[in-house]
Amino acid sequence: MTSRQVTRALFSGVRALRTSTIQQIRQKCTSACFNCTNARCLSLASTASQQHALKELQVPETSLISTNVSKDSSVRVKFSDGTESDIPYVWLRDNCRCPDCYNQEAMGRKYLLTDLQVDVQASDIQSNDTTLKIQWNNGHVSEYPSEWLHARAFTPKARALRRNVYALPKEPWGADHRLKEFDYESMKKDDRILLDWLLTMETKGSAMLKNVPNRDIAGPEMIEHIAFVKQSHYGPHSPVINRPNTNNVAFTNAKLGMHNDLPQYEQMPGIIFIHCVEQHIGTGGESVITDGLFAAEILRKQHPEYFDILTKTDSYFWDKGHANFDWEMAEFYKISRMPIITVDNNKQVKQIAVNNAIRDSYIDLPPEKVKPFYSAMKVFNDILYENSVVFKMDSGDMMTLDNIRCLHGREGYEAFSKRHVESSYLDWDEARCRRRKIQEKLGLLLTK
Ligand SMILES: [Zn+2]
Repeated sequence: MTSRQVTRALFSGVRALRTSTIQQIRQKCTSACFNCTNARCLSLASTASQQHALKELQVPETSLISTNVSKDSSVRVKFSDGTESDIPYVWLRDNCRCPDCYNQEAMGRKYLLTDLQVDVQASDIQSNDTTLKIQWNNGHVSEYPSEWLHARAFTPKARALRRNVYALPKEPWGADHRLKEFDYESMKKDDRILLDWLLTMETKGSAMLKNVPNRDIAGPEMIEHIAFVKQSHYGPHSPVINRPNTNNVAFTNAKLGMHNDLPQYEQMPGIIFIHCVEQHIGTGGESVITDGLFAAEILRKQHPEYFDILTKTDSYFWDKGHANFDWEMAEFYKISRMPIITVDNNKQVKQIAVNNAIRDSYIDLPPEKVKPFYSAMKVFNDILYENSVVFKMDSGDMMTLDNIRCLHGREGYEAFSKRHVESSYLDWDEARCRRRKIQEKLGLLLTK
């Protein structure tokens, strides 16, 4: 049976189980009870405020009021809201909306880069409040709706709006952080609550789902509701229990240092769902989490030389082993290579990859650079712990973390404990895709 078949079998079993499961009767609140501590109610209230904030950012209806050829390579366009922008001809020609150049059904460009002249010239420009019409020097005619053009104007505001549609700005947090709570079933039933969770995950990188059903695959079920499960060689979900003959140090009762999951994959899973099916009774099994983004910024400020090392040195991560369960890959041998802190072209922290257990013993450095590399890792590790949050999940809790930003670990616990945690993954591409679709449905998408 392939892993995919196992997943399908798991879900068909769950569907049968779901129909026979008596749903727990939950306290129902009205939207007016703002002092209530019911998770669903709190969540709805915060969703309302979030929606309000987003609505204020929405682009108002705009019309085109004038055009003026200011340079030989662009046209200056003025809109009814006062926005003015030079629009380059090459961009306009590239983005012609006519059926010869653009497939409306597929919403994709047909016009080939091969046919594009970078120094294309307009022979005639006409405009009214709804449309900009350009005849090009080879006779081709292009028309652009003013709303469409306004959203893409090369202004700081239009560019910033698009950045937010792509990904929301992250809000770093430290040791005083408290996870925002969501009711599991409510999040499945109400897209406004799901949107609130998606926004929370993008900004805070962390949240807690409460009242999760006592099923091993409650995590994958929620992920399938959002999009698709991200599989790894451990299959669609991993029982984090004390396994005999284990294939990962996480699957023991030992203390686990804070880490990101699966950096042995070049594309690490975006969001991890950590479901506490059954918590250990007594001391042990506490969770510890931290915001790698927050720690990385402290490192950048206080130890720029170490920040430099961790962003410019590629590390190997590796994982070799065999299946513990029949849904896992029979044998695996992964090696990835990436910096511990990845920054983007704007020098913003894009990804954190810390995992002491699977960090490779091979280091691609000359010997004199090895000790400074360890010093940098140690200082970063100290900052991560100094700003961490410790708590104990209850049975029925499901913590969700941005796995390329936040780290998680746990205290050790007794070997024969019944502690049972399940982990599963969702990729960021799918999470952001769902966020945009819900925003569009609720009329909260910033641009079209
Ligand atoms: Zn065209």
